Amino acid sequence: MFEELRVTKALNKIKATSRLTLPYSWDLNIYRGCEHGCHYCYAIYSHRYLEKEEKDSFPGKESSGREDCAFFQRICVKTNIAEALEKQLGSRSWKKEVINIGGVCDSYQPAEAKYGLMREVLALMIKYRNPITISTKSDLILRDFDLLKELAELTYVNIAVTVTTMDKNLSTLLEPLASPPEKRLSVLRAFKDTAAVTGLHMMPILPFLTDSPENLERILSLAAGCEVDYALPGILYLRGETRKHFFDFLACNFPELVDPYRKLYAKGGADRTYKAELYGVLSSLMEKYRLSGDYMKPMQVKLSRTKQLKLTDFQK
Ligand code: SF4
Repeated sequence: MFEELRVTKALNKIKATSRLTLPYSWDLNIYRGCEHGCHYCYAIYSHRYLEKEEKDSFPGKESSGREDCAFFQRICVKTNIAEALEKQLGSRSWKKEVINIGGVCDSYQPAEAKYGLMREVLALMIKYRNPITISTKSDLILRDFDLLKELAELTYVNIAVTVTTMDKNLSTLLEPLASPPEKRLSVLRAFKDTAAVTGLHMMPILPFLTDSPENLERILSLAAGCEVDYALPGILYLRGETRKHFFDFLACNFPELVDPYRKLYAKGGADRTYKAELYGVLSSLMEKYRLSGDYMKPMQVKLSRTKQLKLTDFQK
């Protein structure tokens, strides 16, 4: 279900605590909610305001767990996002900082095929030469190859693709409406010869489901074949709404894993010994395929080059 809405601001300043670990300070979300429906989704919390709306509309109604589904099914579309964005990008106070497109949704979820708002957003990024990062699980991004390629020639563009498993059936179960893994990798292949920085996000790694050395090696070797600039693996974290939703998913689909998960996830993060073993495997694989885990370096190099280019243009 799509709900169209109008916004006054397009950019959202990321909380100071999160900025310490992220290489950008601004988020732009064209949609609220995400149809991809990944059962481990970290962003389910961002629909809390809709829970409140429902409770206000139906006082006394108990929660039935529908709120979790609302994030996947009730998609708010910011139809005037480009208009609101242009006001911010054109403002004298805007310092052309890196904008992360899609912090709590996938900008290339199925709704984007209908609304096409990313093309308007990218046209503005080109107009204002604004650096961006995008992470997606959809090959719909290839529709905008021309604009992304053009922007990457002007400034820093980071295109990351998330792949958790190469098993198509498991992927469909875990991430129902995202593109199949092979199609996601085709995105990295397509951007390989452009000026964009490309990265593989292998996250979250799900214990007992996607953590086999074979799966990890297959994904990393394929990413190496796509000549990615970096690869970022990360283990599942379970808290709040995500924890509840994921345990419900396990109980329905992998009941035998509920107890092992309870033991491993006594807290939000996985057990330390498990993490140490997994990171050991990952670090040898990263070394074997000569993959860098440093996503900051390409950004620093590209942004400093852009500054030099601008100076050169000025001196002409
Ligand atoms: S693609 Fe990202 S935002 Fe969308 S459901 Fe999956 S994890 Fe959540």
